[in-house]
Amino acid sequence: MTSSPAEPPLNAGVVRSMKGNKGRGTKPELAVRKALREAGFLMNRCMRVIPFDEDEVQASLKHFDDTVRMIETNVQSETRNSKDVMSHWKGNPKAENCTACDAKTFCPYVKGSFPPTVP
Ligand code: SF4
Repeated sequence: MTSSPAEPPLNAGVVRSMKGNKGRGTKPELAVRKALREAGFLMNRCMRVIPFDEDEVQASLKHFDDTVRMIETNVQSETRNSKDVMSHWKGNPKAENCTACDAKTFCPYVKGSFPPTVP
């Protein structure tokens, strides 16, 4: 096992000097803030504040739990009998789901909506 050499203890002069450094509002910091503000970089432009709404959080958690429950139920069903995979899954046909889905050309829930194409 290797060990790094111990740090030398700070002497009182170093500690006093470091404590004397301002943490905020220094000349360089103010100059950088001013330059950024003049260039159009404002703090309220680089942050997106999302209001916290307890009801919305609970609704999102319930939606997440429902989705996981549906997936796990369908996987268990498919595991018991995998001869007809599509019969075990309930479709949720929405453009945002189906457009990127590999099953869209043969999925019974979107029959004919996505004809096969050649790249
Ligand atoms: S194409 Fe069928 S399997 Fe794919 S996302 Fe749409 S409904 Fe679901």
